[in-house]
Amino acid sequence: MITANKSAAGERVPIREGLLTGPLSRLDRVRLAGCSCTTCGETSLGSKNICPNCGGDAVREVSLSNHGVLWSFTVVRHRPPGNYKGPDPFVPFGLGLVELSDGLRVLSPIRCDIDKLKIGLELQFKPYVRKDDDGREVVAFSFEPASQ
Ligand SMILES: [Zn+2]
Repeated sequence: MITANKSAAGERVPIREGLLTGPLSRLDRVRLAGCSCTTCGETSLGSKNICPNCGGDAVREVSLSNHGVLWSFTVVRHRPPGNYKGPDPFVPFGLGLVELSDGLRVLSPIRCDIDKLKIGLELQFKPYVRKDDDGREVVAFSFEPASQ
């Protein structure tokens, strides 16, 4: 397994281990990773060995849907503290809870004009690459309005 700390410059890594599936070299095939519990039926974000709902270990990895609907949102109007990697100077952006067709909700930046944000907006998963301070290509994600 490749961990972020051992990766070299130029290498492509997920923004967090266990969060993405698919070859990172093919952004069109990258999906959010999830796990589905065969005991209680819960689907949750990220690959896990234990179901966060019932504690059972009968979980299997799944690729989550790349389509969803904006369930709720806010507009971030101030630069977040810490190592924020967005544009400089800061540009306000939408941050939403996206309800995937798998039923779970994922917190994600919403990449569109903030005036276009509205509950019920149809969205599609949009992985993208940014460089980190060590020169690695970090695959992160957002959602954007679904193409018509
Ligand atoms: Zn379960």
